[in-house]
Amino acid sequence: MSKKIICDFCGTVDSEENPIVSGDHANICKACISAAYEIVNSEENGFVPAKVDAQEQQKEIVLPYPKQLKEILDQYVVGQHRAKKVISVAVYNHYKRIFKQNPQDLDDTEINKSNILLIGPTGSGKTLLAQTIAKHLDVPLAIADATSLTEAGYVGDDVENVITRLLQAANGDVKKAEQGIIFIDEIDKIARMSENRSITRDVSGEGVQQAMLKIIEGSVVNVPPKGGRKHPGQDAIQVDTTNILFICGGAFDGLDDIIKKRQSGNVLGFNQTKKTKKEMENVITHVEADDLIKYGIIPELLGRLHMITTLNEITKEDMVHILSEPKNSLTKQYMKLFKLDNVDLEFEAEALELIAQKAIERKTGARGLRSILEDIMLDIMFDLPSLNNKKVIITKDIVNKTEEIQVA
Ligand code: ADP
Repeated sequence: MSKKIICDFCGTVDSEENPIVSGDHANICKACISAAYEIVNSEENGFVPAKVDAQEQQKEIVLPYPKQLKEILDQYVVGQHRAKKVISVAVYNHYKRIFKQNPQDLDDTEINKSNILLIGPTGSGKTLLAQTIAKHLDVPLAIADATSLTEAGYVGDDVENVITRLLQAANGDVKKAEQGIIFIDEIDKIARMSENRSITRDVSGEGVQQAMLKIIEGSVVNVPPKGGRKHPGQDAIQVDTTNILFICGGAFDGLDDIIKKRQSGNVLGFNQTKKTKKEMENVITHVEADDLIKYGIIPELLGRLHMITTLNEITKEDMVHILSEPKNSLTKQYMKLFKLDNVDLEFEAEALELIAQKAIERKTGARGLRSILEDIMLDIMFDLPSLNNKKVIITKDIVNKTEEIQVA
């Protein structure tokens, strides 16, 4: 007769409903395992449950298809269609690689991370693209300026501090930060000094690039819990950068010369006629990895920026669209602000064109639009609360400041 197995904790006999797990010297039934689990994890015993609110728990990143991502970007970013397409595909691939990878599918094929390099003039929408993507995927975003970064130990911002900022953007949630996006602007300004180029640049650029390479490649970074500098006695939080998406941006002034030189095989400046802006832009679209290496980006770093794309300079026509079309365009924001005080606001087409023209003259891309508009709107904003039920029309003359704002 076989001996019955009995739970050493409660004496129950092994059964289908309450099976027993046997160790070398003791047996325990399913019911006792559950009871023990609850006791060990009870708050009286000092167990602190992770504070995840129910909504957060349910929220998983819903990954839109590239086409849907591009449609989202279209709502906020004017023009730049090629860049929007490249980003949509890169972002989709990146998150698909993280979320959809099934352990059973794991064979020897490793899908590389698709970090992105955006080449385009200042104020053309590089940061805006990164911000829009991060906002709509609800992933944390950290923005850093490459020129403010230094190799570890130098005065300035350690490259690793960017990870601290990402962790702050994720409200301290390490897992969320590890799936976030880091946008590093002005990467062209840390190009290493190259013998072919006479532009004086920061000699430590190469060191910063090396430091960046480490985090882009994927490494575990020790982040001080409250940000700031590391202190020897402080417990550090470990953040793995393997799945963080890096988007780098830069204007790369002078890159067109390097491309042209490669294309023509000629000595620069010899027998060259002055090119129009459009032709220059076309030149930039032909950028190849070698051109960027000549510019001073180290090959190892470039090898980690798989998707390279260019953005066009914002034209006057684009500026007018930027003012009025995107979902949260500046004019729409002002209209909403006015509506809150029961005032209708209208911009005449000629006024928008003039604002666009003024922004072009500032040579800061679409970035200049905000301050121009703020300057125009200041006086009327001052009187806004007393204009209940009125209508304000912004005309060309108001933009030119040759006419006072008329209230209808
Ligand atoms: P950069 O290319 O220098 O990163 P940003 O993305 O920071 O430029 O652009 C500065 C501001 O100009 C943005 O906040 C946005 O308001 C506006 N802007 C620039 N480019 C575009 C664009 N293509 N579409 C809509 N707004 C734009």
